[in-house]
Amino acid sequence: MKTMTRFAFCLALAGALTAQAADKIKTAKGDLEVHPVKHGTVVFKWNGKTVFVDPVGGAAPFKPYGVPDLVLVTDIHGDHFNKGTLEAIVKDKTVVITPEAVAALAPEGLKKRITTLGNGKLMEKLGVKIEAVPMYNLTAARLRFHNKGRGNGYVMTFGGKRVYVSGDTEDIPEMRALKNIDAAFVCMNLPYTMTPEQAADAVREFKPKVVYPYHYRGSDTAQFKKLVGGASEVRLRDWYKN
Ligand code: ZN
Repeated sequence: MKTMTRFAFCLALAGALTAQAADKIKTAKGDLEVHPVKHGTVVFKWNGKTVFVDPVGGAAPFKPYGVPDLVLVTDIHGDHFNKGTLEAIVKDKTVVITPEAVAALAPEGLKKRITTLGNGKLMEKLGVKIEAVPMYNLTAARLRFHNKGRGNGYVMTFGGKRVYVSGDTEDIPEMRALKNIDAAFVCMNLPYTMTPEQAADAVREFKPKVVYPYHYRGSDTAQFKKLVGGASEVRLRDWYKN
């Protein structure tokens, strides 16, 4: 009896831990689950669909999430685009959306499965509205990392809720001009993207309801949160556990 009780307790605890693993955002079609994976990689679950953004690192980190219905890739760099990972996780049902520059680097088999989307273009797949938005550097010394027009940030609409994933960018005017963002995933790290100060300054301008610093390796996210202040709810999550 005692063993059973302990077993039941362990089950309850495991359940609680699983529940804590995903953040939830309410939408008109049920909760959007947010799963931080690593660095610039995020998994969303919504309305029976699974969405991977920038899956890299092989198939193993994605085992818990199953086969993706939709995969979005932001740019050509290895922390966003990895051929081997895509070849391992993309199945027949998977819709893959990338910028042209990523498709150009994809092996033939994978390329056939890719739908390209350029900055400013919009499409709807599996009930998710997907808008590609610019991502690029502004600072002279960083221009060589991301030139305007090559990569995509994305604004996805899940049951009326607008979710922005920045990709690798600085605090560009197009980010500052975003409207009605319910959740934003905003990068920061030098020398490739921007400082917490730049990121916070942009966030104070476009005021997403919720903001997740992601792709922040080596950056002071506590400083970011402090600088954002009351402009948005800042959710600090650990993107470097694994
Ligand atoms: Zn990156």
